[in-house]
Amino acid sequence: MAQTGGSRKVGVKASSLLDGRTLVTGGSGFLGSHLCDKLLAQGREVLCVDNLFTGQKRNVAHLIGHSRFEFLRHDVTMPLFVEVDEIYNLACPASPVHYQHDPVQTTKTSVHGAINMLGLAKRLHAKILQASTSEVYGDPKVHPQTEDYWGHVNPIGPRSCYDEGKRCAETLFFDYHRQHDLKIKVVRIFNTYGPRMHPNDGRVVSNFILQALRGEAITLYGDGGQTRSFCYCDDLLDAMVCMMQTGDDVTGPINIGNPGEFSMRELAEIVLELTGSKSPLEYRPLPADDPKQRRPDITLARQTLGWEPKVQLRDGLKETIAYFRSLIAS
Ligand code: NAD
Ligand code: UDP
Repeated sequence: MAQTGGSRKVGVKASSLLDGRTLVTGGSGFLGSHLCDKLLAQGREVLCVDNLFTGQKRNVAHLIGHSRFEFLRHDVTMPLFVEVDEIYNLACPASPVHYQHDPVQTTKTSVHGAINMLGLAKRLHAKILQASTSEVYGDPKVHPQTEDYWGHVNPIGPRSCYDEGKRCAETLFFDYHRQHDLKIKVVRIFNTYGPRMHPNDGRVVSNFILQALRGEAITLYGDGGQTRSFCYCDDLLDAMVCMMQTGDDVTGPINIGNPGEFSMRELAEIVLELTGSKSPLEYRPLPADDPKQRRPDITLARQTLGWEPKVQLRDGLKETIAYFRSLIAS
């Protein structure tokens, strides 16, 4: 399935031969690897493309040797020539620590990556889904966030490489749709957590769980009063795959997340309770441009996808804690 050159022209007729083949960029990351599992379980062939910047081989190790799975180490800022009939574009570091490590590369991944994947979709007449983010709303002035809100984003701050990169990617998706009639799907993902999160990604869920399990201080940034809404990965993946299967008239953007809203202090208390840890709380300065509150309005997802998140925060955290416990043990 993977090609680095050769036959680059696939017409409409030939593209029907590609039915059942999916490209997942960022496929060895946290969400991408769960997506590969889900698509394989549905009987599709999966090409997982990743440069392993934040992705981990262990996330897809169990798939190596699967007859319908292929891994290709590749950076999406470079053109890619493969044959598939649908593309999920997830390649991009997602945690503030990771995306601020090399901000220029982060913007390139979002923007050049989107151009390359959209160009590929155009050649193949393939459907393409973009993993966008609630960060397109920035530090929102509208709460909860609806898809018609244009956001409140600092264009020159430390988070801008990610926020503006993702906003530009959305622009490219809609321009390809209008200009080239491309079949696009854009989902705006709100904070999602679960097993296979990178242990060093600095995100609040992985940080708090690891700190609690190791008996280290729980690092609360600011006064811990800022809020987030946490979606368990299985719920998110259900919505994402459902979105890909919608008719061509459904483009999004559609918010995907769990509307339950928690302050970081509340999250710390729940993690301490579920782990049985006695870790103390330690207050640290709030990072620049850290959004004060975030909660998705998922009315559109409910109506369009008939989807609803099912996993309560405590249940999802128990699964995630079990994952990190086994990671520490190994
Ligand atoms: P992740 O860091 O685990 O996964 C991202 C993957 O992309 C990694 O495997 C990484 O190696 C790969 N990657 C990065 N740059 C690349 C490049 N130039 N070429 C090829 N591969 C590259 O993060 P995740 O949480 O799984 O996020 C997946 C996608 O979902 C991202 O696009 C992210 O922006 C989006 N998203 C995630 C969340 C969340 O809470 N997890 C929220 C909003 C949006
Ligand atoms: N946060 C925190 N302690 C940590 C890591 C994060 O208090 O150890 C806070 C962070 O300031 C933010 C929230 O938790 O307000 C969510 O942070 P995360 O990096 O997980 O995601 P994002 O800010 O991108 O939503």
